[in-house]
Amino acid sequence: MTRPGGVWENWGRTAKVRPQRVEFPRSTEAVQRSVKAAASRGMRVKAVGAGHSFTGIAVAPGVLLDLTDLTGLVRADRARGRVTLRAGTRLHQIPKLLAPYGLAMPNLGDIDRQSISGAISTGTHGTGAAFGGIATQVTAATLVTADGDLLVVDEDENAELLPAVALGLGALGILVEITLQCVPAFLLEAVERPEPLQDVLDSLDARVSASDHFEFYWFPHTDKAMTKTNTRLPESAVRHPLKPFGKWMDDVVVGSGAHQVACSVGRAVPSTVPAINRTSVRLWGNREFTDESHRVFATERSVRFREMEYAVPAENVRPAFDALRSTVQDSAWRIGFPVEVRFAQQDDLWMSTAHGRASGYIAVHRYWREDPAEYFDAVEQIMLGFGGRPHWGKMHSLDAATVRDRYPRFDDFVALRDRLDPQRMFQNAYLERVLGE
Ligand SMILES: Cc1cc2nc3c(=O)[nH]c(=O)nc-3n(C[C@H](O)[C@H](O)[C@H](O)COP(=O)(O)OP(=O)(O)OC[C@H]3O[C@@H](n4cnc5c(N)ncnc54)[C@H](O)[C@@H]3O)c2cc1C
Repeated sequence: MTRPGGVWENWGRTAKVRPQRVEFPRSTEAVQRSVKAAASRGMRVKAVGAGHSFTGIAVAPGVLLDLTDLTGLVRADRARGRVTLRAGTRLHQIPKLLAPYGLAMPNLGDIDRQSISGAISTGTHGTGAAFGGIATQVTAATLVTADGDLLVVDEDENAELLPAVALGLGALGILVEITLQCVPAFLLEAVERPEPLQDVLDSLDARVSASDHFEFYWFPHTDKAMTKTNTRLPESAVRHPLKPFGKWMDDVVVGSGAHQVACSVGRAVPSTVPAINRTSVRLWGNREFTDESHRVFATERSVRFREMEYAVPAENVRPAFDALRSTVQDSAWRIGFPVEVRFAQQDDLWMSTAHGRASGYIAVHRYWREDPAEYFDAVEQIMLGFGGRPHWGKMHSLDAATVRDRYPRFDDFVALRDRLDPQRMFQNAYLERVLGE
């Protein structure tokens, strides 16, 4: 978000910059004018979404294009279940836009504050072994390229570029329109339970394959996990939504307010963290409800944190998780945030963490006022040893040489970036690090 005084800072407070200019284009033509004007002044330009990436991927030192005014529905193809959205549309705005057509996005991540462009550009994902990340829902996109021209990528034009532009790291151009393949609106039945971690680990494969959307959180310094199992139901099924007060109590008071206090106490007196975690797992997540899919997928995250997340081949989730757990147990760290484990289908997007392999995601978090370096560095080394690929929007230390070894289509992506952006109009320090100059 841009603060008074013109400083932009991301949600996790890990990146900030004072851009030379901030512009708010309201149309595709206005984006084209901004890019052409930046080029003529020799300035770099970058579109920014909700600033929810923990990496510096969205840092825009030159011209920052804030797409808050480039939102909404362009068109809907009811017969094919496809909708075209303006690039700045926030995920939480989408359900209302889809409702008149009886459609929904097939899968979502934990929150819905991000822009659709930011979400797809970093490979944002949810969980579900039969579902891909949000970028796999993209069937077409229109970008403004470095010379200010429009590049349409769909089934008829430039179709071979779709696996690159659907998850483009903001490196290929400014997205102005995105078409998503949706599904008929559906409900989710959510079952959230505290369980012994060992039971969860022993039955992990069976749970993942038997459920539509399974994930678990392990609270470090405890032997407990919280499991979330969401089952897809037709829209006509009976709803049992959380009562607004119950939802507020669970998400805001317990999930956020109590956690905020716990984080502050844990930071001041680290020896209290194990007891706090044991209490958290008891208080959190023992509920069942059935509601519209987007209401179940998206939760509140109002306690600020920093995050690292690695994707490993699905078969490596168990050994990678076990190694992480022993490292935490053998350390003197007191970690107040849970470790989150999710799953996704393989896909063919060039820069996707799930490219060519069914994947599991292991995410570690730390309260934003604590230094995450030692914990994250140790976890990163473990994940790399199990074939890990870093989430583009979450903290990691890899550079282009290391990334290249882990992404089979890396060279193709960089060649396309070189062709579309020879002057590096869309480059920033993060992209220089992960893609090379
Ligand atoms: C509380 C929290 C919860 C999260 N939960 C999840 C989760 O469940 N799953 C998950 O995978 N990730 C999760 N994330 C990470 C988050 O989804 C990604 O970092 C996502 O990119 C953020 O979207 P944004 O709109 O904030 O994008 P930004 O961070 O603003 O930008 C991300 C990238 O997109 C580019 N971009 C934005 N708009 C355009 C455009 N129009 N054209 C071209 N490029 C563009 C930017 O230049 C930048 O490169 C979470 C992050 C937070 C802070």
